[in-house]
Amino acid sequence: MSNTRSLGHDAVSGSDPAGPVVSTTQHIGLAETHSAHNYNPLPVVIAEGDGAWVTDVEGRRYLDCLAGYSAMNFGHHNPELLAAAHRQLDRVTLTSRAFYNDRFAPYVTALAELVGKEQVLPMNTGAEAVETGIKVARKWGYEVKAIPADEATIVVAGGNFHGRTTTIVSFSEDPEAFGGFGPYTPGFRVVPYGDAEAVAAAVDATTAAVLVEPVQGEAGVIVPPPDYLPRLREICDREQVLLIADEVQSGLGRTGTVRACEHTGVVADLYLFGKALGGGILPVSAVVGDADVLGVIRPGQHGSTFGGNPLACAMGSTVVRMLREGPYLDDARRLGEVMNTRIKEFIGNGVVAARGIGLWAGVDVDASLATGRDLCERLAERGVLVKDTHGSTIRLSPPLVITEEDLNWGLDQLGEVLTDLRAGR
Ligand SMILES: *Cc1c(COP(=O)(O)O)cnc(C)c1O
Repeated sequence: MSNTRSLGHDAVSGSDPAGPVVSTTQHIGLAETHSAHNYNPLPVVIAEGDGAWVTDVEGRRYLDCLAGYSAMNFGHHNPELLAAAHRQLDRVTLTSRAFYNDRFAPYVTALAELVGKEQVLPMNTGAEAVETGIKVARKWGYEVKAIPADEATIVVAGGNFHGRTTTIVSFSEDPEAFGGFGPYTPGFRVVPYGDAEAVAAAVDATTAAVLVEPVQGEAGVIVPPPDYLPRLREICDREQVLLIADEVQSGLGRTGTVRACEHTGVVADLYLFGKALGGGILPVSAVVGDADVLGVIRPGQHGSTFGGNPLACAMGSTVVRMLREGPYLDDARRLGEVMNTRIKEFIGNGVVAARGIGLWAGVDVDASLATGRDLCERLAERGVLVKDTHGSTIRLSPPLVITEEDLNWGLDQLGEVLTDLRAGR
């Protein structure tokens, strides 16, 4: 343990039931023994975070260019979010929806106003927001569109990622996500992403909703053709179908707007938010829509013990205020231009394709040079944390609070890794 330095942090102190765990190797050994292997993390054990930076148990610093898949849009240890959390922790943290709590009305009002809709249905995780959207759409389909009982269909896009529940993996195309978890929930039609004609062909009298990510995150930051969402809107209007935008990852600032749908001026019927809505402090998700849609859910028909809890509402309200008053949307746009200009320069230099919108990019590395995982490991050695998605694609989504200087430094490291790989180093 002589090569490690104590951070004086609770997690590494003797009060930890597993005893003092300080070095990276010790920590990973215990984690691999006692946690299920449902992830394959990079060998970095984070102990502290501040802004766009995190520090590991050995005192090494890393630029966090993943930001918890956009859950950390406002950065680590954000003083405004922490102050709001501390204030609420000292008052009341959970009441259940059996009663009102004094944070609830201000939160749902603020979020509905931010999104331009009438109502909010509060949940916790992104997957729960998606499940809620599916339930609302089905019930709306039966009650409003008069779809025959149990025949409702929902059209979804290939390459989607909407979460990990049994129903959601039922319409995943990723064998890792769905394989071995059947029997699958029926009622979904999968058509290629970005192809509005395919959606039009899949919609019929049984269709309650079209559910899409305005930009596909896990698929590798796939930005659809500019007319895709507007055409989905037209199809949904024509066929009396709800358009549901899963903005769990794309929303709340990542693309420089509250809703990624804004880039093409499209208004969805239901918006699903999550990740950044909890301010990086706890899971907070929400379904936002108008009363004629959300109104199909009546007391006792859907809910969650933790949904709309006072701490979640306090964080959600703070996030809404920060998006309204803070520099985050502008910064995401400004920094996004820097990032997207620079990643395009890597094309042909070890990168075969790169896409981006706002402060969010997918970079496809030449598969003959490296897997996405290799690249992530090399970047971690240089002090930059990113995550691969499929094959040789990495995704960049740094906190919106990153400085331009740090962003450029992180991209320099990517450039150096690509140079090393091309030189066979
Ligand atoms: C992350 C994600 C989800 C699932 O969110 P969880 O909080 O992990 O359940 C759903 N949809 C999209 C688009 C996501 O990126």
